[in-house]
Amino acid sequence: MLANSNAFLRQKNLFGGEWVDADGGETIDVNNPATGEIIGTVPNCGKAETARAIDAAAEAFLTFRKTTALERSKMLRRLHDAIMDNQETLAQLLTSEQGKSLVEARGEVGMSAGYVLWYAEEARRVYGDIVPAPWADRRIMVTKQPVGVIAAITPWNFPSSMLARKIGPAIAAGCTSVIKPATQTPYSALAWGLLAEEAGVPRGVVNIVTGSASEIGGEITRNPKVKKVTFTGSTAVGKLLLKQCAGTVKKVSMELGGNAPFIVFNDADVDRAVEGAIAAKFRNSGQTCVCTNRFYVQSKVYGKFVEKLAAAAADLKVGNGAEDGTQQGPLIDLRAVETVESMIEDATRKGGKVVTGGKRHALGGSFFEPTVIADAKPRMRFTREEIFGPIAPVYKFKTEEEAIELANNTEYGLAAYFYTQDLGRMYRVSEALEYGLVGVNEGVITTVEAPFGGFKESGLGREGGHQGIEDYLEAKYVCVGGLGM
Ligand code: ADP
Repeated sequence: MLANSNAFLRQKNLFGGEWVDADGGETIDVNNPATGEIIGTVPNCGKAETARAIDAAAEAFLTFRKTTALERSKMLRRLHDAIMDNQETLAQLLTSEQGKSLVEARGEVGMSAGYVLWYAEEARRVYGDIVPAPWADRRIMVTKQPVGVIAAITPWNFPSSMLARKIGPAIAAGCTSVIKPATQTPYSALAWGLLAEEAGVPRGVVNIVTGSASEIGGEITRNPKVKKVTFTGSTAVGKLLLKQCAGTVKKVSMELGGNAPFIVFNDADVDRAVEGAIAAKFRNSGQTCVCTNRFYVQSKVYGKFVEKLAAAAADLKVGNGAEDGTQQGPLIDLRAVETVESMIEDATRKGGKVVTGGKRHALGGSFFEPTVIADAKPRMRFTREEIFGPIAPVYKFKTEEEAIELANNTEYGLAAYFYTQDLGRMYRVSEALEYGLVGVNEGVITTVEAPFGGFKESGLGREGGHQGIEDYLEAKYVCVGGLGM
């Protein structure tokens, strides 16, 4: 496939229904991480262009807020259909800019459509309350209104679906948006502009700006017309955005980093655990915030688990995501490869044993071997730091209490997984884990129907589920008095 023949490769920004360039005409190159080839450019916009995108969203909000829930629901249904009608083309575009296998890219695009359909349904269920008043002659009504203009900043690891779970509820609630995608993967986001046009979403409801993260982020967080910022990305940038949003007291949703534990108890079905481990670790080349960062395995099954995990990891087919059969694509860039290498070097220096992988892949570029490290120890860097790459460190533990303590000993709290056949343990451990998502005997659990979000420094708010629309709504209490009762 020649990426630049893709119908969705849009090399401009979208403000108020117009496709535009940066004021000075400056552009940024976008690479295919599998081949290094430049697949196109996008505008390099800054503060001034961002302010105009916000103005367009603010203007569109004046009329969009008056649409009915049923109109917005139908709009989202059309958007869902537009995504599914173009699933293959969108998947190819995603693979070409992000690197993941076509199988995973098709899955991601399908998930995007799933979020949009879910919020098409939720749009019509934004109920208020009539509450019994403590006064005889007054009535209490609580209604929900859209917050207004929202800004969405998204990462490169899921460039399509991370937007779906922001744009879906935003449109459902009646909000208008300004979107800033990651610089590495802008086309899957710009495609949302074309899809919105195809679905008849009014001009200015979806605006997309690419360019300098700090300038665009600075304007988004300081501009009083933006009422809410929703961000998915690193904890460090999330903290910075939180500080910047304080000046205008914006609502915020933060989906930040993770340090997911994956616990295998002696009573687990080890083969099932290995299967879950491969999905929970090597999906998207290990570059997801819910990817396992630390495997904790109980003493009796430790040897068996390490051996089977290493064999399964060594079997993964590494290659260009666009080729049939590829299971693990390249990492996003060479910086990511260097981080992974330095973590392996740190671990081996401190006694870790590379059981499989451990080095750059023979394919070169940013391809890396699926790696399993046994004898992992708390003092190794990946105990605390998010790996975001294909390394599986395996630690040994003795008791359930020890496993829970180790699992919770981190400032993160996004996803956790554990494998057991014991019912009591299933309840004890799932209640003790300080995590927003817990997979029991399952390694991949994200779905549109359930809330996604973290405890502790992994974030604020929830996306997906019926909870995911709440952050786009303000509750309004109306007291009607003087009723002459
Ligand atoms: P990652 O390490 O996964 O690239 P980042 O948190 O750096 O995660 O990036 C996630 C998103 O945040 C991207 O769209 C990136 O461009 C954006 N970003 C990075 N720095 C800033 C900033 N200072 N202000 C606003 N957005 C930023």
